[in-house]
Amino acid sequence: MDEPLLPLIGFPPDMPAAAVRAYAAVGSTNTLALDWAAEGAPDGALVAADFQSAGRGRLNRRWVTQSGAALAFSLILRPTPAETAYLGQFTALAALGLAEALEALGLHPQIKWPNDVLLDGRKTAGILVEAAWDGDRLGALVVGVGVNVAPSAVPPAEAVMFPATCVETALGRPVERWQLLRGALGGMAAWRARLGSPAFLEAWQVRLAFRGQRVRVDPPHQPPVEGVLLGVEAEGSLRLRTEAGQVYNVIAGDVHLRPLDEGS
Ligand code: ATP
Repeated sequence: MDEPLLPLIGFPPDMPAAAVRAYAAVGSTNTLALDWAAEGAPDGALVAADFQSAGRGRLNRRWVTQSGAALAFSLILRPTPAETAYLGQFTALAALGLAEALEALGLHPQIKWPNDVLLDGRKTAGILVEAAWDGDRLGALVVGVGVNVAPSAVPPAEAVMFPATCVETALGRPVERWQLLRGALGGMAAWRARLGSPAFLEAWQVRLAFRGQRVRVDPPHQPPVEGVLLGVEAEGSLRLRTEAGQVYNVIAGDVHLRPLDEGS
């Protein structure tokens, strides 16, 4: 049975969102946001939670959210007809918005294609964008974000497939998580206005983790592809150049990206 949804006491009332539902504990903020979107939530509505018992990554992989130490939120966006041309940029939109908020703290985040934000080369945040369909029409996008803020948010090494860290460890001091959420929402709104622009692509490109380095991508049921990571395409695919000089465009799906440098 689902846990009762208790409001999150102490959640700041001045969050820059069109409407807010904030809970102490949920299964997944994305699931609640998809339900709310189907019920008519406005563009820019926000679901936030202190704890998720069933946070999701890609392909239903688990995203761990510990109480009091993390951000777990889902933003409901209703793309305009012009924005629907850039659906492949919404994951990057969330990553850029969060990256800007982290940069304002003095950090140097990188975006690990397609959906993670790294600090010091370690996973600090994960993004999961899901679509809410209204028949065959896109009703809304749900942009789910999980951020490890304090050290207790970071899962043990054996529970993750890629090394993890948190904002406070990277920064070396405590961080007010609602302030970080405010900053991330502000950043997302600002980058949304530039979706599809050369400035957007450039901002994404310069923050790409492993750019110019040799990497391996592991697509499902196919041999891995190794090559130098060249960059991202506007529609969201990753460009690699193999040793034979062939250029590959990898589409985000069940693909794992790993660096091939010594020690990795
Ligand atoms: P990878 O980053 O390994 O290539 P992925 O991008 O597909 O995989 P996601 O679907 O974004 O990963 O996230 C799910 C994975 O993230 C989990 O399988 C687990 O390894 C890892 N993970 C889960 N919770 C956290 C967390 N709080 N911090 C860091 N990593 C986590």
